[in-house]
Amino acid sequence: MTAIAPAPSRATLPSLGPGLALIGDSWQALPGTFPVHDATTGEPVAEVSNCREQEARLAADHAVAAFAVWRATSAWERSAILRRWFDRIVAHEGELAHLMAREMGKPVTEGRGEVKYAAGFVEFYAEEAKRLGGETVPSQFPGKRLLVNHKPVGPVYAITPWNFPAAMVTRKVAPALAAGCTVILKPAEATPLTALRLAELWLEAGGPAGTLQVLPCADPVPVSRVLIADPRIRKLTFTGSTEVGMRLYAQAATTMKRLSLELGGHAPFIICADADIDAAVTQVAASKFRNAGQTCVCANRIYVHESRCEEFVERFATTVRALRVGDPLDPSTQIGPLVNSEGLDKVIDHVRDARAGGAEVVVGGGVISGNYFEPTLLTGTRTGMKIMDEETFGPVAPVMSFTSDDEALRLANAVPVGLAAYVWTRDLGRAFRMSEALEYGIVGVNDGLPATPQAPFGGVKNSGIGREGGRWGIEEYLDVQYISIQLP
Ligand code: NAD
Repeated sequence: MTAIAPAPSRATLPSLGPGLALIGDSWQALPGTFPVHDATTGEPVAEVSNCREQEARLAADHAVAAFAVWRATSAWERSAILRRWFDRIVAHEGELAHLMAREMGKPVTEGRGEVKYAAGFVEFYAEEAKRLGGETVPSQFPGKRLLVNHKPVGPVYAITPWNFPAAMVTRKVAPALAAGCTVILKPAEATPLTALRLAELWLEAGGPAGTLQVLPCADPVPVSRVLIADPRIRKLTFTGSTEVGMRLYAQAATTMKRLSLELGGHAPFIICADADIDAAVTQVAASKFRNAGQTCVCANRIYVHESRCEEFVERFATTVRALRVGDPLDPSTQIGPLVNSEGLDKVIDHVRDARAGGAEVVVGGGVISGNYFEPTLLTGTRTGMKIMDEETFGPVAPVMSFTSDDEALRLANAVPVGLAAYVWTRDLGRAFRMSEALEYGIVGVNDGLPATPQAPFGGVKNSGIGREGGRWGIEEYLDVQYISIQLP
C-alpha cells in the first residue's frame, strides 16, 4: 500500500471557540499550555490551557456553589436546557466530526455517527430529567407513611478517554446534569478540543455557570489527585483502561465516593455452525474495524465453528481487502490512522507475536505509513498469543476455530474482563443458552452494534462497575433517601 493522500478539507480547522479551559463561567487562558496534535500528520493544531492543582481547587469551589443552585432548579428547566444542548450538538455535527478527525483520526463519516450517538444521550436524559419521581412503600403500621426520594449525589468528577471524544462526554455529563449534579470534566490529553466545544455549546444552550467545567491537562495526575481527595466531590466517573481504573478505585475509597468505572474489554465474537455467514461477515467487519479497532466493545477475537471456518475466512477476507484506508477528513474513508505511535506499537507487537506463534496473515499485516496499519486478517491464532489474550485496540481480526458450543463459551469466558460479547446463530435456544452463559455485561445476538443511548452499557469483572445509558445511567447520579413519617 502507498502513502495516504491528504483530503482537501485538511486546510481548515473549525472554530475552536475560546477553547482553553472552562472554569466557573469563564474561559481561562492559563500561562501554561499544551499542544493538541493532528492524529494524521502529527502537526500541532491547537494549544489548550494546562490545568493543574490550583485550577482543580478553583473548579471544585465553583462546582459546589453551582450545585446548590442547579439541584434546586426545576426538572423542567434542566430538561429544557438539555434539550437545547441536544439541538445545538446536532446542528454542529459536521464541525464536531471534523474536530474528532483531527484530534484522534476518526473518519468524519463515522464521526458524524458518533455525534448522533452522543446527542442521543442528551436527548434521552433531557426526557428522563422529568421522570425522576420517588416511591411510596407500604407500612405494616397504619399510622406510618414510608417515602423514597431521589436526590442528586452532588458535584461529579468525570474522566473520559480519547476514543469517543464526544460520546464518552455526553454519556456521563447528560445524566449527571439531568439528575441535578454539576460536573468537572477532564478530557483525555489527546482530545480536549471536542470536549471544550461541547461545553461551549452547553453555555450557548443556557447552561448555568459552573454546572459544566472542562479542565484539559497534559498530566492527569495533579488535577485528579486534588478532585479525588476533595470530600465535596461526591462522585467519580471514569472511562478508560482497567489499569488506571483500578488505581482510581483505590484512591476514591479515601473519600468514599460513588463510583462508575467503564474499563477495558476483549470482546469474543462467536460464529456458530448454524450462523448466517454473510450477515456475520458484515457485522463482524463493522464491529472490528470501527474506529480502526479502537473501541472497548470491538470484536477482538473471532471464534468460528470448524465446519464454517473456511467459508467465513474466504468471505471475510474479501470484505477486509475492500476497506478504504485514507485521510479521516475524506468522507469515503473507512479506516484512519491509529491515535498515536504507542497504539501502533501495540498492534505491531500483537501481530509479530501471533506470527511468531504460527498465525497466518491472510490480509494486511503491516504498517502503511505514519500511524496507519493495514486492515488485517489472521488465521491460526490460539490462546496464549497476546492477540487472543489482551485488548489489541487496532484493525486486526484474529480468527480461531472451535468444535463445540461449550468450548466456545470456555474460550470466551477465560479472560479477566467482561464488557461485550457477540453470538451468531439462527437457533433461538442456542442464542438464549449461550448469551446467558457469557460472563459479559453486554451480549449482541446476531447484532454487532448493540450500544444505544436508552440501553445499559457496562461490564462485569475487570471491565468495571456501574452502567451508563438508559434509566440505569441516571441512577448512578442519584442517592436514595428514605423518609419514614409517623402520623400524629
Ligand atoms: P487511559 O486509562 O490511559 O486514559 C483514560 C483517561 O484517564 C484519560 O483522560 C487519561 O488522561 C486519564 N488518566 C490516565 N492516567 C490517569 C491517572 N493516573 N489519574 C487520573 N486520570 C488518568 O485509557 P485510554 O488509552 O485513553 O482509553 C482506552 C481504554 O479505555 C481502553 O482500555 C478501552 O477499552 C477503554 N474504554 C472503555 C470504555 C467503556 O465504556 N468500558 C469506553 C471507551 C474506552
